[in-house]
Amino acid sequence: RIAESADLDTLSFDDSGLIPVVAQGADDGAVLMVAWANREALERTLDTGRMHFWSRSRQSLWMKGETSGNVLTLVSLHADCDEDTLLARVQPAGPACHTGETSCFGAHSAPARADHPLHGVWNTLVERAAERPEGSYTVKLLDDPNLRVKKLGEETAELIQSLVQGDAPRATEEVADLWYHALVALLATGGSLDGILEELQRRR
Ligand code: AMP
Ligand code: ZN
Ligand code: ZN
Ligand code: ZN
Repeated sequence: RIAESADLDTLSFDDSGLIPVVAQGADDGAVLMVAWANREALERTLDTGRMHFWSRSRQSLWMKGETSGNVLTLVSLHADCDEDTLLARVQPAGPACHTGETSCFGAHSAPARADHPLHGVWNTLVERAAERPEGSYTVKLLDDPNLRVKKLGEETAELIQSLVQGDAPRATEEVADLWYHALVALLATGGSLDGILEELQRRR
């Protein structure tokens, strides 16, 4: 069931009668794909509850998933501020990209998870690096390669000591210390938290 829908009569189609449609996963907010629709594609989408587009290369109407089976079920359809672009929240039956990736934008489509503490920490580090507030310990670390390496050594030694003593509460704190210092050092070197998470995902 389509919760809410755009009013097709007020939309601004371009000179070719097309409007871009951004398809977004309704559950997680991931950007899945962008494609073009004409009025007929939108009518069919609303009639069937399945995303239909206009293929500019094939010059034909196309239901997403008609050959792959990876249909996109429409949850809601909304126009942007000036009604020349549509946002379709959808439930994907499988990978939305014809390459087999979940999203045409690959890993970069994942919603920014500032709600997750690790992402919150990372976003704060990036902000500190940009704004360089006076007295910030993170800025001090970012400016001092030797201090970064020294702290990593210290924190590692403290973690090992707490593990040898079987002190779980202290080991927990030391892992947090180590993660923080490792993230700062990675940021200073040009790496990213997303890079770490992608690498872990690859190994799973
Ligand atoms: P499908 O609609 O998934 O059955 O795929 C049919 C054809 O549509 C593919 O061979 C592609 O040419 C095209 N196609 C499918 N998904 C996408 C997409 N996410 N972006 C661009 N073209 C696509
Ligand atoms: Zn617009
Ligand atoms: Zn794609
Ligand atoms: Zn420590």
